[in-house]
Amino acid sequence: QDARLEGPIGLIQQALFIFSWFLIIMSLLYRDTGASNTYLFMVQARGIMLKENVKTIGHMIRLYTNKNATLNGTDYPEGNNSSDNLAQTVMYLPENFTYSPSQPCPEKLPYMRGFIDVNMSEIGLDEIQKIFSKDLDIEPGGHWRPKDCKPRWKVAILIPFRNRHEHLPIFFRHLIPVLQNQRLEFAFYVVEQTGTQPFNRAMLFNIGFKEAMKDGDWDCVIFHDVDHLPENDRNYYGCGEMPRHFAAKLDKYMYILPYNEFFGGVSGLTIEQFKKINGFPNAFWGWGGEDDDLWNRVHYVGYNVSRPEGELGKYKSIPHHHRGEVQFLGRYKLLRYSRERQYIDGLNNLLYTPTVLVSKLYTNVTVNLMPELAPVQDY
Ligand code: UDP
Ligand code: MN
Repeated sequence: QDARLEGPIGLIQQALFIFSWFLIIMSLLYRDTGASNTYLFMVQARGIMLKENVKTIGHMIRLYTNKNATLNGTDYPEGNNSSDNLAQTVMYLPENFTYSPSQPCPEKLPYMRGFIDVNMSEIGLDEIQKIFSKDLDIEPGGHWRPKDCKPRWKVAILIPFRNRHEHLPIFFRHLIPVLQNQRLEFAFYVVEQTGTQPFNRAMLFNIGFKEAMKDGDWDCVIFHDVDHLPENDRNYYGCGEMPRHFAAKLDKYMYILPYNEFFGGVSGLTIEQFKKINGFPNAFWGWGGEDDDLWNRVHYVGYNVSRPEGELGKYKSIPHHHRGEVQFLGRYKLLRYSRERQYIDGLNNLLYTPTVLVSKLYTNVTVNLMPELAPVQDY
C-alpha cells in the first residue's frame, strides 16, 4: 500500500525529497541576495557563539575545579543575573559588610550588581557637571577617591578625542558611578587633537600618559574610547599582572571577539607595563592598526593579555558616523615591522607642548599633532 520503497532505494528517494526542498529554500533565499547574506552571516555568527559558549562552560568548570582562580581575581565565572544567587553566596560581600578606611577596598563589592542600564540619550556637558557638582567628593579633573577604604588601584582614564562633543557627557554620566561603586581612585584625561592631520589615537594616548604621570601618582592607566560604555559593573577597572583588554564583547560586533589579537576599545596597563613596552607607536595616522601594534608590543616583552570572563566584557557603543575620517592604509606595512620599531617609536621619541586645562570632570590636554613631534631614526 505504501508508495515509499523499503531499503536503499527508499533512502535515496527520501534524500532526493529533502534535497529538492533544500533547493527550493535556497533559490528563495538567493532571490534577495542581501537577505541571504545576512542569513548566512547570522548562521555563522550563531556557530561562533555556540563555540564561544562551549569554551566558556569549559572555562567555568576549570575555574570551579581549580582553586587558585585567575590573575586579576575579578574574573567571575559568570556575570549575568541568572547566576546572581550563586555568585552572591559564593563570592560577594554582604550588604552590611563594613570595611575600614585603613583597609584596602575589596575587589568584589556588594554595589557591583552585574548588568546595569546604559543610557545613551544626549545631554549637555554643563548639565552633567551640575549633576555631579552635588557630589562634593569629586575634585577638579574628575578626581575621586573612596573614603571608606583604601583604593586598590589609582587609575588614570585617558580618552582620545576630537570633535565628539556629544559623547563626552554620556560617557561621564555612565562611567563615574561605575568606578565609584568599584571603589577605585580615578581621574579623567581628555587628550584632544587639533590641527588638520589625520586622527592619531595612539600618539594621543602616549601624550596623555606623560601628562597624567606629571599630575598624579597613578599606578594603572586605562585607554578608553569615548563611545564605549560597559554594560556590566563587575567589569573591574583595575590593572593586573598582565595587560588587560576590557572591551572583549562589543554590541557592534554582535558580542563576539572579532579576532583573538583584538586589543581595541578599552585596554589597561600598569605604569610599569606601559613603560616597559615603550607605549603606543606614534606612526599610525588615521583609523586602524595602532591597537594591533600594542598587542604585538605587549607580547614581544613576554606578557599575555587577560580579559574579563564571559558576560562581564560586554559593551555598548554610541552609534556615530565617520565624518571625513580616513583609514590608515600604511598600517599593514608598519605592523610587519612592529618588533623593529618598538624601541625607536613610542614614549621615548615624543616632543610636544600641550595646552592643559583642568575642568570639573576632566583634565583637557590639547596638542596639535604632527609627524615631526615623533621623529624616528631610519631602521
Ligand atoms: N576619536 C575621536 N574623534 C575622531 C576619531 C576618533 O574622538 O574623529 C576617538 C574617540 O574616542 C573614539 C576613538 O577615537 O571612540 C576610536 O575611533 P572611532 O570611534 O572612530 O573608531 P571605531 O568606532 O570605528 O572603531
Ligand atoms: Mn567608535
